[in-house]
Amino acid sequence: MPPCKTRGIVVRSRDYTETSRLVNFLTPDSGLVKTLAKGALRPASPLRGKLELPNYGHLVYYPSRTSDLHVLAQFDLIEHFPRAVATLERSAFFHYLAELASAAAFGPELGGGLFQLLLHSLRRAEQLNALPQGRIWFEIRYLYLLGVLPPLAACAGCGGPMAGTVRFSPAESSWLCPKCAAGRETVAVEPGVIAAVRYIQDNRLERVMNLRLSPRQFRTIRGLLRYLVDSSVEKKLKSRQFLDQVVRP
Ligand SMILES: [Zn+2]
Repeated sequence: MPPCKTRGIVVRSRDYTETSRLVNFLTPDSGLVKTLAKGALRPASPLRGKLELPNYGHLVYYPSRTSDLHVLAQFDLIEHFPRAVATLERSAFFHYLAELASAAAFGPELGGGLFQLLLHSLRRAEQLNALPQGRIWFEIRYLYLLGVLPPLAACAGCGGPMAGTVRFSPAESSWLCPKCAAGRETVAVEPGVIAAVRYIQDNRLERVMNLRLSPRQFRTIRGLLRYLVDSSVEKKLKSRQFLDQVVRP
């Protein structure tokens, strides 16, 4: 088979043997691409030192006929993001973003959107002075791309406006007005939370950095997003546990 050429961000990289590495790339056109970089750890290898998270570059690989693990032939750096890994907190943050993005990057359509979202976040790494807000900003866009963020504009039951305290139905993953919520299992969400989620959805990362939320609003939003992320990602997110330990809102 002829080699495939594309661009990609290193989202996972680990040693496989003494000389080779397993490297996953998030690409704009092929979703998640898993490769074996043979000989990458040899001193003379042209791949040596380039396959670190979250480097972005041109890659060439030989597709496997029998599995989803391909052979990496070449990787040339386009951009690297030293600011994204400058501190333990930011490094934990971007490892989580990378794992989250790759967990859903199946096929070109969704993969393309997630690739753009991750690249956009990496390019703004130096503006990330509030990681908890940055995380909410990313997760909301992520869930939106996946099509699992329930629309905020109207009640999913009657289509009426969402005013006052609304309720979230985990079973249906939707927002309901108090009238439609009667008799169903729901949790109450105060109006400020809905307004904040709407604001985060509509605004650039730079503006969201300055958003002030009460500890209670933070907890509610984090809980909701965690629930929605867990419902949409099948695997356990290892990087999230670490991020929760090093970055607290
Ligand atoms: Zn209703």
